Amino acid sequence: MATLLDGRAVAAKLRVEIAQDVAAFTERHGRAPSLTGILVGEDPPSKVYIRRIAQSCADVKIRFTRLDLPAFTTERELRQLLLRLNADEDLSGIIVQMPLPEHISPNTVATTLAVEKDVDGVCPANAGCLLLGLPALVPATPFGGFELLKRYGVVIRGADAVIVGRSPIVGKPMAALLLNDNASVSICHSRTRDLRTFTRRADILVAAVGRPKIITADMVKPGAAVVDFGINLTAEGIVGDVDFGPVAEIASCITPVPGGTGPMTNVILMRNTLTAAQRLAGELIHVEEDI
Ligand code: NDP
Repeated sequence: MATLLDGRAVAAKLRVEIAQDVAAFTERHGRAPSLTGILVGEDPPSKVYIRRIAQSCADVKIRFTRLDLPAFTTERELRQLLLRLNADEDLSGIIVQMPLPEHISPNTVATTLAVEKDVDGVCPANAGCLLLGLPALVPATPFGGFELLKRYGVVIRGADAVIVGRSPIVGKPMAALLLNDNASVSICHSRTRDLRTFTRRADILVAAVGRPKIITADMVKPGAAVVDFGINLTAEGIVGDVDFGPVAEIASCITPVPGGTGPMTNVILMRNTLTAAQRLAGELIHVEEDI
């Protein structure tokens, strides 16, 4: 039976470490790092997520401000708000909750947000830096999955890594993280011919698809490390993209759903906010190793 990559346990440890670093930052600078979360409209899951972000900030003593904007907010108004927040020296990080109402393009956020405050890693400049192996703010979900692999000592250097899914917020940044850490990376997607041929050779198999149990045991190499980012609401509850039971019998380690990559996301968002605060304060100049 595979070792569980226990996101809840690792997130709890990380929370303690981050709280200590936040306290030290606050001591050095006389003010805590700060994050502003913006919610446009009334999307119910987004309201839950932003409340969880507020709680995560409270846990590590990062200051949090929530801005609720009406659904009829225009693109121009959102852009103006972001520009004001970009210029606010008291603010370390900004996150805009997705999805936005249909009349606002997510590109508005990606192209307006100050790159140094983009703690969710949505700006093209952060994606580019990540790809080039330069210091970047990395999207929290893949960074959390990557952190789990590191904390459990999974060997990444030289490993064959296969990522199923190529979204800008999960699949692509995960591929970049693994490539920068010297894995040989393949990225698969909906047009991949014979997905199983790819997944069967993976020492590290990452699922970021959003299809319940699409990764079955016959697609997994015995002994593989399996990271499942999928969160799918089904009749049997929340399940991942991996058929957990049968795959756990042959993998060497695997993230459960729930309790794997999910709990890591917000704690990594806290670490990104601290990183942003440190960089804005002129700390962390030579940080190549922290990508
Ligand atoms: P997207 O829908 O943006 O991307 C899904 C990817 O899967 C696409 O690249 C798509 O290919 C690919 N895909 C779809 N069907 C297939 C198939 N049959 N075979 C191979 N590839 C396929 O999803 P996200 O990346 O945003 O999210 C992925 C999962 O991660 C979801 O379950 C989501 O809920 C979860 N998630 C979890 C988070 C967390 O905190 N743990 C945070 C964010 C997301 P193509 O590009 O060709 O369309």
